[in-house]
Amino acid sequence: MATLIKKIKGGEFVIKATDAADIAIPEERTEEQKMMADMGRDFLNTEVIPILDRIDKQEEGLMQSLLDKAGELGLLGISIPEKYNGFGKDFNTSLLITEVVGAGYSFAVALAAHTGIGTLPILYFGNDAQKDKYLPKLATGELKASYCLTEPGSGSDALAAKTKATLSTDGTHYIITGQKMWITNAGFADVFIVFAQVDGDKFTGFIVEKGDGLTLGNEEHKMGIKGSSTRQVFLNDCKVPVENVLGQIGKGHLIAFNILNIGRIKLAAAALGGCKRTSMLSIQYAKERIQFKQPIANFGAIQHKLAEQAIQIFTCESAMYRAGADIQAAEEEYVAAGKSYEEALLAAAQDFAIECAILKVAGSEVLDYVVDEGVQILGGYGFSADYPMDRAYRDSRINRIFEGTNEINRMLTMDMFFKKAMKGELDIMGPAMAVQKELMAIPDFGADEDELFVAEKKALANMKKALLMGAGAAAQKFADKLATEQEVLMNLADIAILIYMSESVLLRAEKLISQRGEAACSLFVDIAKVYLNDAMDKVNVAGKNAINSFATGDEQKVMLMGLKRFTKIAPLNTRDARRRIAAKLIEAGTYPF
Ligand SMILES: Cc1cc2nc3c(=O)[nH]c(=O)nc-3n(C[C@H](O)[C@H](O)[C@H](O)COP(=O)(O)OP(=O)(O)OC[C@H]3O[C@@H](n4cnc5c(N)ncnc54)[C@H](O)[C@@H]3O)c2cc1C
Repeated sequence: MATLIKKIKGGEFVIKATDAADIAIPEERTEEQKMMADMGRDFLNTEVIPILDRIDKQEEGLMQSLLDKAGELGLLGISIPEKYNGFGKDFNTSLLITEVVGAGYSFAVALAAHTGIGTLPILYFGNDAQKDKYLPKLATGELKASYCLTEPGSGSDALAAKTKATLSTDGTHYIITGQKMWITNAGFADVFIVFAQVDGDKFTGFIVEKGDGLTLGNEEHKMGIKGSSTRQVFLNDCKVPVENVLGQIGKGHLIAFNILNIGRIKLAAAALGGCKRTSMLSIQYAKERIQFKQPIANFGAIQHKLAEQAIQIFTCESAMYRAGADIQAAEEEYVAAGKSYEEALLAAAQDFAIECAILKVAGSEVLDYVVDEGVQILGGYGFSADYPMDRAYRDSRINRIFEGTNEINRMLTMDMFFKKAMKGELDIMGPAMAVQKELMAIPDFGADEDELFVAEKKALANMKKALLMGAGAAAQKFADKLATEQEVLMNLADIAILIYMSESVLLRAEKLISQRGEAACSLFVDIAKVYLNDAMDKVNVAGKNAINSFATGDEQKVMLMGLKRFTKIAPLNTRDARRRIAAKLIEAGTYPF
């Protein structure tokens, strides 16, 4: 994907329109990116997919050997600079590989934990000696990594961790004692990124190697991702040399939270890989399964499901690579301004933390939707453990829980949005006041809505007004108590997510039309229009729920009327649009976009 000039700041999509020319779309992949994706796909299809049952039984040594093979191909070192044995590829290439491998069920989780939360803390926060020592071996898979943040008593509230680290009297090492919970890859990891409190309250990261003082609990019995090793990690007077302090004492939160920003968008990428595979399996089954003397793919009810899976996938993909390229562009600006590659990516991901949180929620929820309908399309066979939907359905569910639960990410989305506004980084006051004025004015019925996307662009701008109206009123009403109004924040976050998704799919369709012409893009137009059409109603419901929970009397009336106006959209025959999309899926026999 071509590099873009940074045109928009993180979170600014709520108040600004973006030109289609300024977003990256998956169709602009370079030949090298396509080649790397093919390599990842081949690896998955030959080495992983044929042995999924063995992986889920956690056959001794199997996951490690798969990670070793992935390491030989370079799949573990995509983001690691070449001087440390990696490929040093750009951010969107790493998202692409994450997407491709994301179709690998438990293997995808093991790989993501190793390359993401396990390796990135050292890449981004390690000093030169730590990088020299660990990164080359992490890139090849000689060392396998895990990340130990969660504890039995602290999950979402991660900074409340109780694990203690005390400096030895001779000052050569820390002695760590505590218990970590739900640690992915723990069963075979050599390196554990551990967070502990120094002197009681200085939350700090450490690189801990397997050895004395570190023991493991049994494998957890889980609903899904059964092939992924998940264990407790016990640290009992575990001696860690002072050289292995990661970053600064008391600054562990910077590591934990910054790594999560990147982890969140990558989770969306992995979910997308799972979605595409599930869509393919759903289409194939629907074509083969005969009921009432015909393939079930002939039935409108099934076509609706197949099409909706594709609409959700295409939309989420549009948003994910758009945000990825925005992060990459910001990163390049930081590098040009003198930051190191590592500092630059962290700062860029921090700038786009709102988009990362949005994508985490959207990606995991789209995957859950897609696998749920996958089960339904397979009927009884969807419920059979001998057919592929069973695993897809069970494995999907964890994504709404880890990397920050979706509740936490929804609240974070709005929290970051308000904080940016307060700091003056996002000018929401001007646009919010304009919306207030518009509420009192006579509606404008002006634009020529027959022209392509004119009505949709207007609808999108109106969605943004709905959010500004709701967010502005809630901020005024609750002031510093807003953080405790979680239901309202969740409603507002839902609207923000719908806006980002709608805008992304619309801009992708528009850009594709500018490149290929309208006739070649009719299905992209269908996808964008159907998504936007349904998003409008969802914005309406979320908006009503928010407004009715705090506004009364005239204020409530005016806001509800405004919401009605802001969520108006021209009627669309979504049945026909979905039928056209489904026809393409059925003809292709797979997810074709
Ligand atoms: C299979 C698996 C693998 C994992 N891998 C790792 C790993 O490798 N490393 C690691 O460190 N951790 C890992 N985790 C832990 C994971 O990140 C946590 O489970 C997650 O952060 C949620 O924490 P919790 O389970 O304690 O839930 P809790 O925090 O107790 O949350 C329970 C519910 O309450 C909600 N909630 C919590 N706080 C609030 C709030 N302030 N407002 C509103 N709602 C709230 C949550 O959204 C959730 O619905 C893994 C978990 C699982 C299940």
